[in-house]
Amino acid sequence: MIAADQDSRSDLRELYRELILDHARNPRHFGRLDSVTHTAEGINPLCGDKLTLYLHVDGDTIDAASFEGSGCAISMASASLMTDLVNGRSVGDAHRWYRNVTERLTGRGEPDPEPTLERLRALEGVREFPSRVKCATLAWHALHSALESGSEPVSTE
Ligand code: ZN
Repeated sequence: MIAADQDSRSDLRELYRELILDHARNPRHFGRLDSVTHTAEGINPLCGDKLTLYLHVDGDTIDAASFEGSGCAISMASASLMTDLVNGRSVGDAHRWYRNVTERLTGRGEPDPEPTLERLRALEGVREFPSRVKCATLAWHALHSALESGSEPVSTE
């Protein structure tokens, strides 16, 4: 039997908390890729989170993404969720999601209607704690910087 308050905010929060703890304890795509075309490091000195992101990009497709690092549960869960999402997706999706996620986590912008991103709602609780926003966005900034620098010549534009 389903309780009447199944979808209440507190139940959702509990679900999101479990999702974050699950990803933090068992990060997906943890470890270096055998073949890397793009990489970036992310450091959040405020909390002590550190990660290195590895991508293998073929044409316009991110055909593998992984990370290594250490830090708080939110930073590790965010990196795990991010690498899970971008695996097999296009570079264009990754750029769009980067913008959308960083805007949402800093309290601006509307949720992306794409169902794929639904799990990221788990991270939106950080908006109530500005000091944790950097923990949640660290992996996404690393993704952006890896894709920007990567194999392309750096532009001064
Ligand atoms: Zn952190």
